[in-house]
Amino acid sequence: MEKVIPFINENLLFKIIEETSNPSSERVDEILQKSLELNGLTLEEASILLNTNNPEDVEKIFFTAGKIKDEIYGNRLVLFAPLYISNYCSNNCLYCGFRIDNKSIERKVLSLDEIKEETKIILEQGHKRILLLMGEDHEKCSLDYFIQAIYSIYSVRDSKGSSIRRINVEIAPLSENEFRVLSEVPIGTYTVFQETYHKETYERMHPKGKKHNYIWRLFTMDRALSNGMHDVGIGALFGLFDFRFETLALIQHSKHLDQTYGIGPHTISIPRVKPAKNAPASYNSKYSVNDNDFKKLVAVLRISVPYTGIILSTREPAYLRNELFNLGVSQISAGSKTSVGGYKQAFNGMEKDEEIGQFTLNDCRSSGEVIKDLIKMGFVPSFCTACYRLGRVGEDFMDLAKPGLIKTHCHPNGLTTLKEYLVDYADSETKLFGEKLIENELNKIEHKKLKQKTIEYLKRIEKGERDLYF
Ligand code: SAM
Ligand code: SF4
Repeated sequence: MEKVIPFINENLLFKIIEETSNPSSERVDEILQKSLELNGLTLEEASILLNTNNPEDVEKIFFTAGKIKDEIYGNRLVLFAPLYISNYCSNNCLYCGFRIDNKSIERKVLSLDEIKEETKIILEQGHKRILLLMGEDHEKCSLDYFIQAIYSIYSVRDSKGSSIRRINVEIAPLSENEFRVLSEVPIGTYTVFQETYHKETYERMHPKGKKHNYIWRLFTMDRALSNGMHDVGIGALFGLFDFRFETLALIQHSKHLDQTYGIGPHTISIPRVKPAKNAPASYNSKYSVNDNDFKKLVAVLRISVPYTGIILSTREPAYLRNELFNLGVSQISAGSKTSVGGYKQAFNGMEKDEEIGQFTLNDCRSSGEVIKDLIKMGFVPSFCTACYRLGRVGEDFMDLAKPGLIKTHCHPNGLTTLKEYLVDYADSETKLFGEKLIENELNKIEHKKLKQKTIEYLKRIEKGERDLYF
């Protein structure tokens, strides 16, 4: 049943933002010191950090976020590829290229065979995780079709015999019944972005269709968690309203889920609005977020909700992504296409993503290039999907994550999945750098037995075994 009292208290958030303006360096120091206990921050404390503009204090915020990221996640970055299967949409989101009023794009729903073709191309890039998306059009793309798409994807094997091991989904808010149906399907995280938590802006940005209803969208995760779903992801589309308000609202949303269901969101996504064809709100917004504020909000999220994954997409350019990895991002997409059938078009050398994608991408490197660059920078690209497949989801995942155990499972799993990638998909240069990285990383495993087991797994992978994890 739809609840009607929003847990986002706009007046409270505005009051906090106003009362915490021009914070002193001493107060910033105090908060940063406290944050190292890894218990997160109050809304007031987060707001003080968001309101900090003194460059020296901002640097301290970045430094602390980097420390927390390192403490909890190490130097691992989990990779995934988005897969768009339909661009039909009955909504009219003013910032999106798929909106119903954009008559200049060709609309397409992929058949199950076409979905398999896209999957194969994604697999051949070494990916093991897909984020599955579509527009909202209940006649053209039913939940039933979406579920068939999920099973089709899992059925595909590439030339190495590999398959997708985890599908996360991002589709329009579902009803309680629909969530019960989806909860029976083997998916990882269900994600939906609120876009903006500011109601008046929300209603203006979404003038038509089911998405116009702010409350329906706001309570999506409540319906999900009350109806069998375990892992949910939230997000805000930065650039529609004041970034400080949106960041605090994301924290408030996380706290609401944690307090009500004993489990916060698994991930927070932080897309920034990018230009999209025939989407007026995707250009020149008075709320567009500059790079420095963007870095600050990522750092503040990392500090405020230390155990929640932060997802960064290829909307952002490579140079900025590289900086954000050190500030708290834990999952990234690579080699992405945001048009329907985009992987096959690119594979056939007929790329049209710029014109027909949902929005413009800014990191257009191939997956292979992103992975090579990550390795050269000392990050471990991870294709791990172990937790979800071992049932370490929802509360169980948080129990594991909170004492910092994430490092002892995720780090070796990052190394074994990277090893698979190096053996199966990497070019010779990536292989060379990757093997050196694995060797260095092995030395960081303090637990003797765990280290031995990891070395054993790596040898078995070299000999042809696959999918070995902790
Ligand atoms: N159609 C579903 C929905 O809106 O919930 C599924 C997700 S939609 C395919 C993916 C997300 O892309 C949206 O939630 C929105 O935040 C984001 N998006 C849309 N237009 C964008 C733009 N111009 N720049 C950046 N992100 C955009
Ligand atoms: Fe449709 Fe989602 Fe784009 Fe809105 S953001 S127009 S709902 S695809």
